[in-house]
Amino acid sequence: LLSALYQMRTQPKGLYILFFAEMWERFSYYGMRALLVFYLTKHFLFEQSAAYGLYGAYTTLVFITPVIGGVLADRYLGHQRAVMIGAVLLVLGHMGMAIEGEPVVAGEDPDPFILNIFYLSLALIIMGVGFLKGNISAIVGQLYAKTDVRRDSGFTFFYVGINAGSFFGALYAGYLGETFGWQYGFGLAGIGMLVGLIVFAMGRGLLNGAGETPDLALLKKKQFLGLTTEWLIYIATLGMLAFVWWVVRDQGTVGTLLYISMGVTYLYILGRSVMTLEPHARDRIFAALFLITVQVLFWALFEQAGSSLNVYADEQVDRTLLGQEVPASVFQSLNAMYIVFLGPVFAFIWSFLGKRGMEPSAPQKFGLGVIQLGLGFLVLVWGASTGQGLTPVVFIFLIYLLHTTGELCLSPVGLSAMTRLSTARMVGLIMGAWFLASGAGNFVAGLIAQATAAEGPNGESLVLDVYSNVGWMAVWVGIGLIIVSPLINYLMHLKTLTDDDHP
Ligand code: GLN
Repeated sequence: LLSALYQMRTQPKGLYILFFAEMWERFSYYGMRALLVFYLTKHFLFEQSAAYGLYGAYTTLVFITPVIGGVLADRYLGHQRAVMIGAVLLVLGHMGMAIEGEPVVAGEDPDPFILNIFYLSLALIIMGVGFLKGNISAIVGQLYAKTDVRRDSGFTFFYVGINAGSFFGALYAGYLGETFGWQYGFGLAGIGMLVGLIVFAMGRGLLNGAGETPDLALLKKKQFLGLTTEWLIYIATLGMLAFVWWVVRDQGTVGTLLYISMGVTYLYILGRSVMTLEPHARDRIFAALFLITVQVLFWALFEQAGSSLNVYADEQVDRTLLGQEVPASVFQSLNAMYIVFLGPVFAFIWSFLGKRGMEPSAPQKFGLGVIQLGLGFLVLVWGASTGQGLTPVVFIFLIYLLHTTGELCLSPVGLSAMTRLSTARMVGLIMGAWFLASGAGNFVAGLIAQATAAEGPNGESLVLDVYSNVGWMAVWVGIGLIIVSPLINYLMHLKTLTDDDHP
């Protein structure tokens, strides 16, 4: 972490502010998420499947709202103001989570008032993420000129901040919540978010105008009933909050919402770019949409980590380390830890190659990322076949290592590419679409995890067959991506990029 902070001195100063603000936001997000399923089953006494259903609905909704948050920021609010609104909603949401009431007694229903506060808190967090997550990344992009070779390494540092937050959040909030009481864990998440809000509010000056409101006159203009655009947005936000408060309880509807949002978002982006953009800018949006779509496959496989891979580690891996049996869930923190260690290395590699004009293009990096993801599964399948009985634990370290290096080739690079390929007036929208596609990936991940749980004709486990299939598929898709990368690169028209949004 220190090495990342030291290396960041050659980046724009504003990156420090965004790094810490997003680190604290992710601290609260992942800290709360680490506790959520346990809170549902142990405090509210939900059935396991109902708890997973709510968890799925919640984690899907946090990927849908950034599209709306992005559009509002692009058109009216500006990304900074959107981040501030998001941060306030998040502090309220996390604090609300700390209102737990009495533990539910077996056979009785939870107190409806407390339960509703809980759903409202989830809704506040979902709305808060919608305003904050995509827009803070959009501001990172605006710190760099379109031709600046530091962009990918800058985003890689930002990604280190994200993962430092997720690592410490899950560790501390998770520990406090499970050991001393839920409210302490959720409360800590809330305090973390408050720190993030303060860092952002105080450090905004260092952003040099990145993410300012595009048209202040429009925002303050009275639209009807004497209400300004800004106030109308706040009122609509309240309406949306009420909707989310209700819909988060219904996993089926959330799944449908995801399909609708994907369809509407793709059509809207395509339509708008065809109708309003000049040919090069339009092609760049096509390239962005291509990269956005690759993510569905990437996260569908990557996110086996929390579900099927976690179960695999639990049931089929010899987890003895230094004579001690390590619980499977501990391996969940490997990914964030690897990122904090390897992120600065990747940032160095990108800027080293960039200065020499040898940096792989974004689509090539995507191809490399997907190949490593596939190789991770293949290494595990191979490792499982090496011995009799349990798989040696080293293969768990290896699969997560390859998945992390793959993630570093794809995820921060993708954030960087989105901000670069988008026009200033669409960047929040494109960022929102980016997160929406990763949400769709998470959704597909659930289906794949279910496939791993199926049994063969003789009752044998099929998990390794599924891993081998998806592993090979990813390797081939990755190779395909590298083959088509010149075409995508052509669509990016990097030579004619101009700095329309660099303050
Ligand atoms: N783990 C990263 C984050 O929380 C990436 C999430 C994603 O794009 N699916 O920002």
